[in-house]
Amino acid sequence: MRRVVVLGAGLTGLSAAYHLRQGGVDAEILEKGGRAGGACRTVERDGFSFDLTGHLLHLARAESRKLLGSLGVTRALRTHRRRAGVALAGTVTPYPIQINTYRLPREVRRDCLLGFVEARMKPEDPAGERATFAEWVLSRFGEGLARHFFFPYNRKLYCTDPGELTTEWVGRYVPRPSLADVIEGSLGLYRKPVGYNATFLYPRQGGIQLLADTLAARLPDLRLATGVRAVHLGERELVLDTGERMGWDTLVATVPLSRLSAMTVDLPAELCSAAAGLRAVGVVNLNLGVRGPAPRREHWLYVPEERFPFYRVGIPSNHGEVAPAGCHTLSVEVSVPTGVTPPADLAQRCFTGLSELGLLRDRSDVEVVEQVTLDPAYVIFDSARPGRVAALRDHYRAAGVMLSGRWAEWKYSTMEDALWDGAAVAKRMAP
Ligand SMILES: Cc1cc2nc3c(=O)[nH]c(=O)nc-3n(C[C@H](O)[C@H](O)[C@H](O)COP(=O)(O)OP(=O)(O)OC[C@H]3O[C@@H](n4cnc5c(N)ncnc54)[C@H](O)[C@@H]3O)c2cc1C
Repeated sequence: MRRVVVLGAGLTGLSAAYHLRQGGVDAEILEKGGRAGGACRTVERDGFSFDLTGHLLHLARAESRKLLGSLGVTRALRTHRRRAGVALAGTVTPYPIQINTYRLPREVRRDCLLGFVEARMKPEDPAGERATFAEWVLSRFGEGLARHFFFPYNRKLYCTDPGELTTEWVGRYVPRPSLADVIEGSLGLYRKPVGYNATFLYPRQGGIQLLADTLAARLPDLRLATGVRAVHLGERELVLDTGERMGWDTLVATVPLSRLSAMTVDLPAELCSAAAGLRAVGVVNLNLGVRGPAPRREHWLYVPEERFPFYRVGIPSNHGEVAPAGCHTLSVEVSVPTGVTPPADLAQRCFTGLSELGLLRDRSDVEVVEQVTLDPAYVIFDSARPGRVAALRDHYRAAGVMLSGRWAEWKYSTMEDALWDGAAVAKRMAP
């Protein structure tokens, strides 16, 4: 019988093993962490439940509900209508900003409207598919929205100039309104739900860990605290942190492509340099358990302005039972270049920024601080990425390694995608 090993027990690896098992193939899962879930884990501290960063379940595919039903988690999840805002120019306006400029100061609103109208009057998409993200934003949204929101926000998120980014990832994630929508939005008249995240699901109790725990409970061959330190493609062999060696016939790799490449001992030199050129940012997540009622009713706020270190602040207790009575939680996200240690004064700068935005009344209200760094967190889509990823993917595939999931495939995707990425691998391996 062929031996199938899954590397990593995040949602992709768990889903791959689950679907393989459904198809009659038993796969061993090796996970270096002490708990399954990867980026979708929840840490419990002093009565607070903190997801490693805000994790809300957005479902774009009808069959996802069926999958959740067959896992028996549907009733444990509650559907929420998004309440999100953009904190800009001393105020908060609803998200998406392009159809909600009405709360912004008049000068900013004028810039956004004028820019949008001017962009509409120009010939569409001068750079076509080869447009950079910066060109794409200017041609679709105009100079005002670019300057006030899209450029500073994405520069902060990706620690990269928007002119260096491509547009492959924008797809369903950046809603594009009509002129009528934008005008209605400037008057506060736009009411329809919009975007891939207009609604989302979240566990009724506790954090997003529920999804991983549900899958893990169905997988007897899950080995936690079992890190892999080396991969030999030629011999089809793994070396575990303990020194144990393990062979495979098919390896499903869900760990970041950069890390997999670094631990592959017999990767050809040109592919090592392709892997070294893969770019990403890490995210420092500062989770706070805070005394008192939540400062606002939004689920999260985007924060584009450069003077604030964070690009987004979530208020998870506004959608989940994640804080003791009389308390709330804040989830603060800061991007850092990959591999870079966050500055020592980062938490302090975040507290100052939160106070300035009215999100933290008093530093002494903070009961618990839980800081974690996810690295890589966001892949940087530059023009070299597709070629580098394809070369690595093809080489691994020829050696019996299937790359699956957000970081193994070096892409932008969601938890729902992770569930289906894992399912797709299992389908491809069906006997
Ligand atoms: C800041 C941020 C916010 C996000 N918010 C959302 C959201 O709101 N909604 C949403 O749907 N998605 C969100 N996502 C995306 C979501 O986190 C991913 O799509 C999903 O977690 C991908 O799961 P994965 O299994 O592919 O990867 P991971 O979760 O990274 O799983 C990989 C696993 O491999 C293990 N591993 C690594 N190296 C080794 C090794 N050497 N040996 C053994 N095991 C190893 C890791 O410990 C990990 O458990 C967000 C992502 C980020 C970064």
